[in-house]
Amino acid sequence: MSEAAALDMPLLRIEGVAKSFGNFRAVDRLSLDIRAGEFFALLGPSGCGKTTLLRMLAGFETPDEGRILLGGKDIAPVLPHERPVNMMFQNYALFPHLSVRDNIAFGLKRAGMARAEIATRVAELVALVKLEGMEKRKPDQLSGGQRQRVALARSLARRPQVLLLDEPLAALDKKLRESTQAELMELQRRLGMTFIIVTHDQEEAMTMADRIGVMDAGRLVQVAAPRNLYEAPASRWIAGFVGDINLFDGQVVSREHGRLTVSTSEAGPLAVSELWSPVTKEIVSVAIRPEKVKLSRRGPASDEGGSQAINRLDGVVIDVNYLGGVTTYKVKLESGAVVRSSMANTARLNVDAYLAGQRVVAWFTADDCLVLEQ
Ligand code: ATP
Repeated sequence: MSEAAALDMPLLRIEGVAKSFGNFRAVDRLSLDIRAGEFFALLGPSGCGKTTLLRMLAGFETPDEGRILLGGKDIAPVLPHERPVNMMFQNYALFPHLSVRDNIAFGLKRAGMARAEIATRVAELVALVKLEGMEKRKPDQLSGGQRQRVALARSLARRPQVLLLDEPLAALDKKLRESTQAELMELQRRLGMTFIIVTHDQEEAMTMADRIGVMDAGRLVQVAAPRNLYEAPASRWIAGFVGDINLFDGQVVSREHGRLTVSTSEAGPLAVSELWSPVTKEIVSVAIRPEKVKLSRRGPASDEGGSQAINRLDGVVIDVNYLGGVTTYKVKLESGAVVRSSMANTARLNVDAYLAGQRVVAWFTADDCLVLEQ
């Protein structure tokens, strides 16, 4: 193979992998390439097969179909503990009777590494995850965040090429989860390792990952960088799953120069640009993120929205939530449908806030909308 071809080759190639439990297909002919040094997140609802996929990569489950190649080689014959792949479990699986040091050293001892070398490696790992001074403690003498770091150090001990993390932050509270996210990202960059993380928390996936693979019912339904996934979801389901969104189902009634008119029962006719994803079907959904929906008392000023077509929806504010940086509103339209809007609180005093019961115009431009096939 030429050097260029070798450089292009993904570190991990998953080819048509399937796994069933009885009649239930947990992973359904899934293919995916992951590059060396990538931070990849698998995102999907509970039961969609994320953990099963990780377990096949780690070697704890055998695929019924398909192949997994690591550095171009099929890893089917390689036993789990011989794979350069390690998995950090959701519950950390620390040994309660062993100290921090012995928990971290466990795999190294089992692999027959020399005592002195183990001591050096453990000291490095303890420093890496900032647990200096706690080497002698047992897991029950540590906080949740510290236990998580011991588990992380232990899973890094044998210097795997790929680290699989199954919901690594699920047991931590919000603040600790956010700081640990940042630490994990920093660590991954510093080590240049490939991380594959499983999560059902879309914000976590967006924060941490270079790319996100969205799974539904055993299949990968979209693989994209966080921004592209959010701005250009491939389907109505993905749009609703990744972030908050307003959706109006309707029918394309006219189409001209990339501008569609979609007739919806809930919001009337909507002007939509076909900017992101050209649609071929007539039955579509129009999707607008809440932060693209602006509220005003009488509608947009004449200079707002530029030369674009503007959609105006009259309604009544039914809910106001002040969240610090933004305020979120729910506006009930005449059809009974509810539109959500999220507006930044940039003014020093919140003079533009709307009150529940107030009549408003919710507006957005044709380019603010996505049109998605159902
Ligand atoms: P969660 O986010 O809840 O952990 P997940 O996406 O990781 O979900 P998996 O754990 O991969 O989902 O499970 C996928 C499906 O396969 C589930 O419906 C689960 O019940 C089923 N499953 C997983 N392991 C087994 C097993 N050993 N025997 C039978 N069914 C299983």
